[in-house]
Amino acid sequence: MTTTAATEQTSPSTITVRAPFDGGTITEVAATDSAGVNAAIARGRSMLRAVHAGEFPAWKRSEVLDLAARTLRERIEEFARTIALESAKPIRTARVEAQRAVSTLTFSAVEARTLAGHMVPMEGSEAGAGKLAFTLRSPIGVIGAISPFNFPLNLVAHKVGPAIAAGAPVVLKPASSTPLSALALAALLNECGLPDGFLTVTVGAGSTVGDALVNHDDIAMITFTGSPDVGWGIRARAPRKKVGLELGNNAPVIIEPDGDWQRAARLIKTAGFSHAGQSCISTQRIFVHESIAAQFTELLEAEVQSLVVGDPLDEQTEVSALISLSERDRVCEWVNEAVLAGATLVTGGQIDGSLLRPTILSNVADDMKVSYLEVFGPVVGISTYRDFDTAIERANDTRYGLQASVFTSRLDRAMQAVHGLDFGGVLVNEVPTYRADQMPYGGLRDSGNTHEGPAYAVREMTHERLAVIQL
Ligand code: NAP
Repeated sequence: MTTTAATEQTSPSTITVRAPFDGGTITEVAATDSAGVNAAIARGRSMLRAVHAGEFPAWKRSEVLDLAARTLRERIEEFARTIALESAKPIRTARVEAQRAVSTLTFSAVEARTLAGHMVPMEGSEAGAGKLAFTLRSPIGVIGAISPFNFPLNLVAHKVGPAIAAGAPVVLKPASSTPLSALALAALLNECGLPDGFLTVTVGAGSTVGDALVNHDDIAMITFTGSPDVGWGIRARAPRKKVGLELGNNAPVIIEPDGDWQRAARLIKTAGFSHAGQSCISTQRIFVHESIAAQFTELLEAEVQSLVVGDPLDEQTEVSALISLSERDRVCEWVNEAVLAGATLVTGGQIDGSLLRPTILSNVADDMKVSYLEVFGPVVGISTYRDFDTAIERANDTRYGLQASVFTSRLDRAMQAVHGLDFGGVLVNEVPTYRADQMPYGGLRDSGNTHEGPAYAVREMTHERLAVIQL
């Protein structure tokens, strides 16, 4: 099998990739059309036959992943710069993302080596006498992967790494605003021995290229990370496909008076504002006990005012631009609406070039957009509570359900939160924004219907084939 470039370029059109911070053109990228998507899927089908024929066995797939992880580690700086440029993620945070992608590929390599089915206890019934039965994990088919702009490298790694481990070829559509990290990762994987056709990057609009993937009969599974409306729309349009959805959130944190609220404030400085709040688990709704609300708000205000805002390529920058000016304006409008409805602007709220200054609102009500919707911007909202049960109830009063957290030193309260917060993940004495890449990561309700993390994604990307042998 040969290894060549991993992009599909049948269409003469191009996409201009711009730096969100200053609007400057970074580069032009060849765009794909539906003919390109069809060709990529056909190549995936032929790679799938090769996998079934044993031509790209699990041990080789794990070697490719391990080599890719090592090579990426050597090129962290190059990848971090690409992430920072195309998504306006501050360079220091972009390095963390690239390092996390190394971890994602490393865990995927482990899955390639160890993924196994199980024995079926045939002797357990009369009907099973004389038969041996077992399952094995077989690749689900060609996978269509659709990724968002906010982690342009690591969220691609979370789809591609497990798919390689599973032996399932992938046609990937990255976000149109941030295709460069995905293209660079695909090229790196090819360089590390991933056969031509196993992974093809198809650049183009969601409504054309994304839709072509969703509608194609030869795509067995769509793995989608992005906004709830687009995700659930895909789910409705593809009832016969497996559709894995990793969607939005409006992450709550509850801060008890006996909890380390100073630490909570220090962590929220990053957790609410990293990548300008454009993380699906960005800390958004802060429920703080009324007895410590004033001190907590004062400390958080000082922390947030110390954030360095500016050019994502500047080493000092902690918060930079939102992905587009229209997103900046939307978030600003939500802040203004909240203030008009009675919230207090503690700090921020002003537009500064392509940036929205890091914003804290207090006295927010549960029926404000900044509370009940996903802000996806550099804004946190504080509200107070008197009794813990009410705080849990209010944290749960959301269409989202990805991660939530509590700060308390009481074990009974911690366990009450673990049981009572109705979210995919509950964190204690940590922000809801925490994620390590081996964790099972997935949400309830509008936040999704699946789990990522290589060990979990690889199971979604395989089916358990039963073998029964008459002895
Ligand atoms: P988005 O607008 O939903 O886009 C996500 C991807 O879907 C992009 O590649 C987009 O392509 C594509 N797309 C758009 N319309 C489509 C269609 N009709 N058919 C098929 N594909 C289509 O989301 P985003 O703004 O990039 O990302 C932000 C959202 O992602 C937030 O809600 C955030 O919470 C969520 N997110 C969730 C997780 C998680 O793991 N749960 C992680 C990160 C982000 P174009 O770019 O060409 O429009």
